[in-house]
Amino acid sequence: MPRRTDRPPLPSQAPGTARSLTIHRYGTPGARPKAYVQAALHADETPALLVQHHLTRLLDDADAAGEITGEIVIVPYANPIGLAQFLNARHMGRHELGSAGNFNRNWPDLFEPVADRLGGRLTADAEANVALVRKAMAETLEARKPGTELEGLRVLLAREAVDADLVLDLHCDDEALMHLFTIPAHWPGCADLAAELGCRAVLLADPASGNPFDEAFSAPWIRLAARFPDHPIPPACLSATVELRGSADVSDELAGADAAALLRVLRRRGLVAGDPGPLPAPLAEATRLDAMDTLNTPAAGVLSYKVALGAEVAEGDVIAELIDPAAGDPAEGRRRIVSRTDGLLLARRLHRYALPGMTVAKVVGNRTLPHRTGGYLLED
Ligand SMILES: [Zn+2]
Repeated sequence: MPRRTDRPPLPSQAPGTARSLTIHRYGTPGARPKAYVQAALHADETPALLVQHHLTRLLDDADAAGEITGEIVIVPYANPIGLAQFLNARHMGRHELGSAGNFNRNWPDLFEPVADRLGGRLTADAEANVALVRKAMAETLEARKPGTELEGLRVLLAREAVDADLVLDLHCDDEALMHLFTIPAHWPGCADLAAELGCRAVLLADPASGNPFDEAFSAPWIRLAARFPDHPIPPACLSATVELRGSADVSDELAGADAAALLRVLRRRGLVAGDPGPLPAPLAEATRLDAMDTLNTPAAGVLSYKVALGAEVAEGDVIAELIDPAAGDPAEGRRRIVSRTDGLLLARRLHRYALPGMTVAKVVGNRTLPHRTGGYLLED
């Protein structure tokens, strides 16, 4: 079945304006497994847009060769609202400028409404329960009547992803190495994805407040299994946020290689026929997110990094110095920003001027950090 492309409209937010999504569909609707891959929900995270361009070309070739065996949904840009948000010639794609907040927060929480809909219909058959839960999830989303353009976007995307076996949300960091986020239930289940992409870190976070896109589809399964312990409910949606390095890491070479890696994941998981070849050796073990130190600025200033991206650092190492341009004595105008763990310098801030409280570095260690437990670990 050749690729189909839909262009569903979003609800109009203002008179005279209209936006739409583009959705590429491969394989027979309803075929299993199903994968859903979207790009740039944070609309200014450009690497994902180019990866989807390459992945679409690779899938077109696989389709022409008759190799598509599952169902694959590709959303080449997930956020047309954010793609248009420029302020003084700067792209502002992370937050909705109309004050609706971070585009990757507050996705529909499907757990309670789905639990209500299941009432008494679960059985001892895990496969049948998966089908029941997926149906209840779809009905829950179908019942939502979006009032705004952004709500309409969320519902459109969620309806495509909600019944997938594999959901990949492609993002990037500021300056960073390749890494991904998922929930603990999906490690080591996604070790193939991490190895193919060459992830330098795999960060595991318990579902928490904030409701990012990836957790909206993976977390309900875990919570339903806990709510109904007498019935088998497997974690049937493997969902991950992939951080495609830094925002300036955009090239055909990188994106082409990343898309080829994703195609091998789809082959290995039985969505596309053909030999994916041997799985590359993993470059990282999984780490709990509370073992990643995020270093913040104590004040405003100019950042001078002392350590390169990808360096192994020790607790107490100076990662950057923060220079106060208002200091009377330049010798006293420097403050050190120090790692509180041993580990890999995974990410740095791209812009070298920062206000108080901004994240300027992430160091992935292997021990839980007291200041990272029990709180809100997502970065807004
Ligand atoms: Zn992002």
